Amino acid sequence: MKTADKTGKTYISTRAWIVGIAVFFAVCVVGTVLLLVQKPGTVANVYRDNECIYSVDLSLVTEGFEKTFTDENGHSNTIRVENGRIRMIAADCPDKVCVDTGWIGNGAVPIVCLPHHLVIRIEKQPQNDIDSVAR
Ligand SMILES: [Zn+2]
Repeated sequence: MKTADKTGKTYISTRAWIVGIAVFFAVCVVGTVLLLVQKPGTVANVYRDNECIYSVDLSLVTEGFEKTFTDENGHSNTIRVENGRIRMIAADCPDKVCVDTGWIGNGAVPIVCLPHHLVIRIEKQPQNDIDSVAR
């Protein structure tokens, strides 16, 4: 901080410093609080054709379970849900990309089954009203 004030009133510069430091600490505190409050998403939402057909909060899962989705054409996808993670364990799609994706536990990578128009994303909010611990 240079004393740029041409009038030579250095107290302005000092005040600027104090305000600057105060703002800096305020930003630090707010940032820390936001980091603590903002947890990463733990809700796995299953979409078919961009419509959410199932939601489960992975942080609330105590016992792993499996669930199969079958569309009107008889195509099926089976997911395995465990605490903090989810994966596709079986699918009758031709490419098996969704099964090969393996476990996901954060929002970085979705599981996509292109042939079945099925997408599993980890998000912060459930996208439908299904009870998050419903089997
Ligand atoms: Zn697939």
